Amino acid sequence: MKLAGKTALITGAGSGMGRASAMLFAKEGASVIVVDVDEASARETARCIQTEGGRALAFRADVSSSEDAEAMVAAALANFGPPDVLFNNAGIEGEGGFLAQLSEQAFDRVIAVNLRGVWLGMKHALPHMIRNGGGSIINTASIAGMVAIRGSAAYCAAKAGVIALTRVGAAEYGRYNIRVNCICPGAIDTPMVERLNTSGGLSKQQTARLSVFGRVGSPMEIARMALFLASDDSSFASGAPFIIDGGWTVT
Ligand code: NAP
Repeated sequence: MKLAGKTALITGAGSGMGRASAMLFAKEGASVIVVDVDEASARETARCIQTEGGRALAFRADVSSSEDAEAMVAAALANFGPPDVLFNNAGIEGEGGFLAQLSEQAFDRVIAVNLRGVWLGMKHALPHMIRNGGGSIINTASIAGMVAIRGSAAYCAAKAGVIALTRVGAAEYGRYNIRVNCICPGAIDTPMVERLNTSGGLSKQQTARLSVFGRVGSPMEIARMALFLASDDSSFASGAPFIIDGGWTVT
C-alpha cells in the first residue's frame, strides 16, 4: 500500500475527482479527512470508504473561509494526526460569460474558492507539516490555467494563480521536505462538466472531441495521478504542473 499510516486531507471530496481520490487514497492505506462544503456528500464519501474497511472522517468546510480551513486542519490533527498529504481540490466553475459581462460578485467568488481556498489550505496545514517533518501538497489547477477558455476569465485566472502558488510553495518549503505540485486536468467526467454541458457551454460531443482520444477523462484517471503525487513514487517532483488532459493542449 502506497499511503499506509498516512493522513490525507482532501477538499471537494464529496464529488467528482475529490471523491475518487478519497476512495483510492483510503484503499492505499491513508486515513482520509473528507472535506466538502456539502456535508451530506462528504458523509456519503466517508461512508463508502468505511464500508470498504477504510478510515475516513467527513468534515464540512467552505475552503474560502479562513476559519473553516483552520478547522478542517484541526479536525485532521484531532482525529488522525497531522496531514501528510493535503489535496486542495475543491473548486467551482462559476458563471459563464465574456469578461466584460461578468459580475464583480461572480468574479470574486471564483477567485475566493479556487485560488484563495488553495492558499488558505496551504497556509493552515504548512506549520503542522513542517513540525511533522514533511509532506506532499497537491493542488488542483486546470488546463484553463494555461490556455484561454472563452467565457471563463475568472476561472482561468484563478487556475493560473494556483499554478503560481504551487511554484512558490515548492520553492519556499522544499527545505522542510514538503513537496508542492499541481494537477492540470483537461475535461473530466464529473458533475462540474455535466453542469457545463447542460448550461449552454460545449455539448458532450464537443467536450469529448477536445481530447485526442475523443472522450472525456474519468475521475479515477485523475485520482491515480494524485496518488502518484501523494506517495513517495514522486519523491523528486516539486513545483510542477502535471498535465493530464487526454492530449487537448498538443493539438
Ligand atoms: P465537482 O464534481 O463539482 O466537485 C467539486 C466539489 O467541491 C463539490 O463537492 C463541491 O460541492 C465542492 N466545493 C465547491 N465549493 C466548495 C467550497 N467553497 N469549499 C469546499 N468544497 C467546495 O467538480 P470536479 O470536476 O470534481 O472538480 C474538482 C476540481 O477539479 C475543481 O478544482 C475543478 O475546478 C477542477 N477541474 C475540473 C475539471 C473537469 O473537467 N471536471 C477540469 C479541470 C479542473 P458542491 O457540489 O456542493 O458545490
